[in-house]
Amino acid sequence: MSFDPLKIRKDFPILDQKVNGKSLVYLDNAATSQRPVQVVERMNEFSLITNGNIHRATHTFANKTTEAFEQAREIIRSYLNATESAEVIFTSGTTESINLVAHSFGDAFIHEGDEVIVTEMEHHANIVPWQMMCERKGAKLKVIPFNEKGELSIDTLDSLITGKTKIIAVTHVSNVLGTVNPVATIIEKAHLKNIPVLIDGAQGAPHFQIDVQTLDCDFYAFSGHKLYGPTGSGVLYGKRKWLDQMPPFLGGGEMIDRVTFGKTTFNEIPYKFEAGTPNYVGAIGLAAAISYLESLDHTLVLKHEQNLLQFASEKLKTINGLTIYGEANEKAGVLSFNIEGIHPFDLGTLLDQLGIAVRTGRLCADPIMDHFEVENMVRSSFAFYNTMEEVEVFYQALIRLKAMF
Ligand code: PMP
Repeated sequence: MSFDPLKIRKDFPILDQKVNGKSLVYLDNAATSQRPVQVVERMNEFSLITNGNIHRATHTFANKTTEAFEQAREIIRSYLNATESAEVIFTSGTTESINLVAHSFGDAFIHEGDEVIVTEMEHHANIVPWQMMCERKGAKLKVIPFNEKGELSIDTLDSLITGKTKIIAVTHVSNVLGTVNPVATIIEKAHLKNIPVLIDGAQGAPHFQIDVQTLDCDFYAFSGHKLYGPTGSGVLYGKRKWLDQMPPFLGGGEMIDRVTFGKTTFNEIPYKFEAGTPNYVGAIGLAAAISYLESLDHTLVLKHEQNLLQFASEKLKTINGLTIYGEANEKAGVLSFNIEGIHPFDLGTLLDQLGIAVRTGRLCADPIMDHFEVENMVRSSFAFYNTMEEVEVFYQALIRLKAMF
């Protein structure tokens, strides 16, 4: 049995369009994926029919919205197989999730001279918050390098970990190289020394079904908009044992227990980390996206995504002067490259003229650009609604543009 993307494309009407007179080929899924109508309709319900602020009032709209918001948390808990829904914190996305941990975990556990380990292939969102925290605390940031294939040099981890290491933060899947990192091995090694691990799942969650108990990660962060859900929605999963000990990140309404001018006490998790009015419509939409994903056969979806990536890699490798960045044995969804003699921005603009959407630039990963000594790259990225025919159109377009130059 195989997955038929044409069947589910009816759920994504945005894909059925002409762009610059050509049928749209959307290959910028790692930047943001498209949303199915089921997600948009669910969100519209709460904007057009029953909008009320959550956890605050006793009227019908507020009750219905609160119920849907907490139901969304439970859907996500179940999807991640978290032990309890209090371990699911709604955020605005991966960036906020990581900043929350860097701030609150950092405040509670990191002191002068301590160390934090990240990798050379992190998105800026999993570098800068740690760097800012290290600067505040007088701590040191250490880096696991990657090799010429774009795979982490895991053997360096043993020597990087010291008695001062307080946390390891690593991306599940690289947004540039597509590398699927051996996160289970990293977690196992870290836990031998009682060091917690945060996984940046911005690019992992869209491809893999995550079981946080099996993985045994301490934190897992992801964004709704890359997971067929809305922008401004996201999740931080965290183990209760850490979240309970971490101070709040933002202060305000709902995160408190009791406020006086002398002293404020704080609410329990997850509310302690959800100050102010959260993006509850976004959270409800994200849960709808997850329910949508659960309605598909995940094994077939993953196989189809792998087929797209493999087909695209094989095709692009035949183009003279084209360099692929990242040739790890295990990759997911992402294919970044440059073509000799063509500026990536020109390539991106010309592809757009042909209806093909790709990402160009530094991909929020300066250290990867430095590693390969390039200024920019072109990135194509695939979702389950892409077809083999679209990959063929993309390949033919590259051939045509290359000939033009
Ligand atoms: N980490 C990785 C690996 C990413 O690809 C991204 C988004 N490009 C982020 C973090 C940040 O996600 P967001 O902008 O949705 O917060």
